[in-house]
Amino acid sequence: MNSVFEALKPYLDRMMALKAALVLFEWDDATLAPEKAGELTEKVIGTLSGEYFGAVNNETVKELAEKCAGEEGLSEAEAGQVRELLEEISKLDAIPQKEYQEFSQLTAGAVRIWTKAKADNDFDAFAPTLEKVIDFQKRFAAYRAKEGQKKYDVMLNDFEPGFSMELLDEFFGVIKKEIVPLLKAVQESKVEIPNDFLTGDFTDEQQEEIGRFIAEYVGFDFSKGVMAVSAHPFTTNLHNRDVRITTHYGKNLDSSLFSIIHETGHALYELGVRDDLTQTLVGEGASMGMHESQSRFFENILGRNRSFWVPVYAKLQKAFPDNLGNISLDDFVRAVNKATPGFIRTEADELTYSLHVLIRYELEKDLIEGDLQVKDLPEAWADKYEEYLGIRPENVREGVLQDIHWSQGSFGYFPSYALGSAFGAQMYAYMKKEMDVDKLLEEGKISVIRDYLKEHIHQYGKLKKSREILKEMTGEDFHAQYYVDYLKEKYGELYRLNV
Ligand code: ZN
Repeated sequence: MNSVFEALKPYLDRMMALKAALVLFEWDDATLAPEKAGELTEKVIGTLSGEYFGAVNNETVKELAEKCAGEEGLSEAEAGQVRELLEEISKLDAIPQKEYQEFSQLTAGAVRIWTKAKADNDFDAFAPTLEKVIDFQKRFAAYRAKEGQKKYDVMLNDFEPGFSMELLDEFFGVIKKEIVPLLKAVQESKVEIPNDFLTGDFTDEQQEEIGRFIAEYVGFDFSKGVMAVSAHPFTTNLHNRDVRITTHYGKNLDSSLFSIIHETGHALYELGVRDDLTQTLVGEGASMGMHESQSRFFENILGRNRSFWVPVYAKLQKAFPDNLGNISLDDFVRAVNKATPGFIRTEADELTYSLHVLIRYELEKDLIEGDLQVKDLPEAWADKYEEYLGIRPENVREGVLQDIHWSQGSFGYFPSYALGSAFGAQMYAYMKKEMDVDKLLEEGKISVIRDYLKEHIHQYGKLKKSREILKEMTGEDFHAQYYVDYLKEKYGELYRLNV
């Protein structure tokens, strides 16, 4: 090991340990922690966050990191960690510590205020807080902006480096031009897709048993991961030998099933990170969008593909004999692909999903760079739903208050959800030239696909940016058209359209 890096190493280890502790508390809070633990646990989390902040943002670490950056002969993993660390330091360095602390306090309270406002269906109760959050975020972005860089671009770059408004305007422009009319055609088609058999009174045990089977079938390794229940499914990773997923159980058997496949996609990414990178600053997925590309690839592109179910549908029928006993594989696959415009993003089908994200992108851009005022948000939100999805939310709970992101100060996060789907579609188009994906699925050889993704994406952790990964894997830079073509082909066939 390089001697300068060796001096930095204990500091890096301390950061990773603090981060692991924070992540574990987050996990615990959402899964097993007793209801009343919240407030006191928050104190512990506050202390740990402060320690983490201090561990990254201190003079010794900064000096060592800068020294390392000038060193020859660092390994790929070491150089990657130094690069990440310097990025993190420059982020924190640009913001006065007092303001950062004020902001942390504000967002801790903001989530609570948002939760209550949503439950009460009362936007006015949240609006003043949201205004403050936006104010802070705009100020922070201005501190951090490079010369000539727009504030919203600074925010976007935190979640998806390399994707600025210029590129996203183009991407969402294509979505708007192609997917909005496609959805209209779907709605006007006379094709009926029954899906009532997906609903019923299932026990948690019934759903858990098949859920665990599917997770394992897709590739989740229960000796390096666990599965628990939480209100909203998510994935937590400590390192490549401890990755945790959650799901929820309800009245729709497809909801928990596909959320498990989705989270397994996230988990496979983290489990596939190379040993020399895990438990370091570059030991996790490349970006939000690249992560979503993997979860959505498994959930939608593979999981909602007929071929995926050929080897395992009988098992599913056996698990839910009353509902699926007499349903053919074709009818099941059609049902889980049905497109229905709805108000809630997290429940959206594959076709309408990107429109939910398009709406948020346009609103965020207008809030940060344009002249949209917080007080006008509910109306602007409803107008866009009416324009793009053909439905108008009647209340703010189903409208502008549905997502937690803004209360946490996460502006610029949403686009990565749609980008993930688009990355996945581009990868899929390329992979189909390299291998017979359908045949592999039909033969139950999903491991071949998984290994391919591990080789081209997962193993690298954060060493490469998403555009670089795409380019090296598919030979091309990012192209939105693959995503549009994929949706057109799939839904054109399903709804017998002439597109
Ligand atoms: Zn996800």
